[in-house]
Amino acid sequence: MKRRKDQQQWAFGDGEGYADFLQKALTDTADRDVSAYFDAESPWYHVGVVHYLLRATIVLHRHAKTKHVKEWLVFSQQCLDVACATGPTLADSQGAGLPLPKWAEISRTSITSALRNNHPSIDDVRLVTTTEARLHARSFHSRNTIQVSALMREYLRTFNLCIWNTQFGITENLRKLNIDIELTRFVRVFIEHVITLYRNASPSSMAVIRAYSPEAFHWTQITTGIQLNFILAHEYAHIVLHGNTVGRDPQQEADADAFAATLLLGEPFRGAFGPTAGDIWMALDWLFGFIELERIAGAALNDYPIDWEQLSLEHRRNALRALIAQAGITGHDGNLAVIGSALLRDLKAELRTSHEQGSFHEYVTDWLDVFGLASRPHLPTAESLNKRRKFHDKYDYARRR
Ligand SMILES: [Zn+2]
Repeated sequence: MKRRKDQQQWAFGDGEGYADFLQKALTDTADRDVSAYFDAESPWYHVGVVHYLLRATIVLHRHAKTKHVKEWLVFSQQCLDVACATGPTLADSQGAGLPLPKWAEISRTSITSALRNNHPSIDDVRLVTTTEARLHARSFHSRNTIQVSALMREYLRTFNLCIWNTQFGITENLRKLNIDIELTRFVRVFIEHVITLYRNASPSSMAVIRAYSPEAFHWTQITTGIQLNFILAHEYAHIVLHGNTVGRDPQQEADADAFAATLLLGEPFRGAFGPTAGDIWMALDWLFGFIELERIAGAALNDYPIDWEQLSLEHRRNALRALIAQAGITGHDGNLAVIGSALLRDLKAELRTSHEQGSFHEYVTDWLDVFGLASRPHLPTAESLNKRRKFHDKYDYARRR
């Protein structure tokens, strides 16, 4: 049945991050005394982190009209108010005060139920949230603890959404899609990402990506879920398999990858409506592509020598391809995976060109000039708005058309 135009969904809710936290904060009107925390290190960075996480719970459709965008901006302001009231209390490096994101609770339930028979003490492993952006997850055997980054999910979701948007654009409306513009935009998403990782800039200054369609959003959620399950299962694998060894060697990484992938291919992650082997293969292929790009862009930003090959990651990626291929991948799954992987390869080439031609560093300088470091958020002035307008005129191709 064809939906009437006015019933079209203009925004999508995302309940797997911090939507519950936001809901509770909005209904909890008790006064919060946060003054004690403002002496802490970079409280405004944490306001930016919380604002970013809360605002990400609603994603706009690319066809959202001006009134919808205005509603979303009001929503974003509410999120900022909550962030100002709660963010500074998170300044402690352990992220105390920020609960586990919803996805981590769901993922932990599935992982522990799959492992409990062979590893009865699996429930003793603690999961804690950190607001540290530069890691995905990390296990500490001596403390029987796994740290997960509160930001990881929203970062991955952004990258996945860029790919799914382009993928649906290619398959549904190739003539209208300008791949070069998509790639340039995607490169900038990565550059902004590494600026927030290495320059202490606020993630809430990053561009907000809209969804191409309900399907693009739906598949983004699925792909992101698989990647998160894998990352968490990989850390559980280190605790279960590797005990108290310090540092991880390549063999341990490969073992943890295989352990995690095998887990994802079995119950309770699969089942009648769960992801296919092809979905898992694709999501993990992209995940390794993101990690590769993150390392390359990070090195470029910091003026380190850049390892464009990233062979150690390539070995891990190939090992997974071989393992998951045995589980049976249909032709359709394979095709989709190929489009995404090709995009990521093009992206790497685009990143290399922009680095060699200097536009990479130009973008970093311009971005930092407009959005700056995570200091106290100011009300916009005429001068700062003018700066932003110039920045968007220079970089936002969609607005120029
Ligand atoms: Zn590892």
